[in-house]
Amino acid sequence: MIDIEIIEQIQRIQELGQRPKIADPFLALTKEVGEVAQAINSEDHGKNKKLKETSAEECVDVINCALELFYDRGGDFDLLYNKMKEKLDRWEKRIDKRDALRQKTIEDLGHAWTAEEAADFNNM
Ligand SMILES: [Mg+2]
Repeated sequence: MIDIEIIEQIQRIQELGQRPKIADPFLALTKEVGEVAQAINSEDHGKNKKLKETSAEECVDVINCALELFYDRGGDFDLLYNKMKEKLDRWEKRIDKRDALRQKTIEDLGHAWTAEEAADFNNM
């Protein structure tokens, strides 16, 4: 769980408006997304490029930059919390519905899905 103090620290830093390298938070976010792509490419496809950080660590940079952009665009903690909760609740309901449909389909078929059937379901 993200500690509220960390969110407040990100907001304080954003309010100072002193990003060290890239002044535009949107550009900083896109740069970090690119670093995640490079790390994934290296980790998953055997590229030998020496990385400063893993893809998971680069994802932390993406989250930091996304939060900075969020505050830069006028977001606040209440919006972050309420909108995040609303979206997570919606996604959780969707997952529950899909699981129920998957279970019913397995019962109707009388056997577990083949990989092809599962792929078809996941593309619905
Ligand atoms: Mg980075």
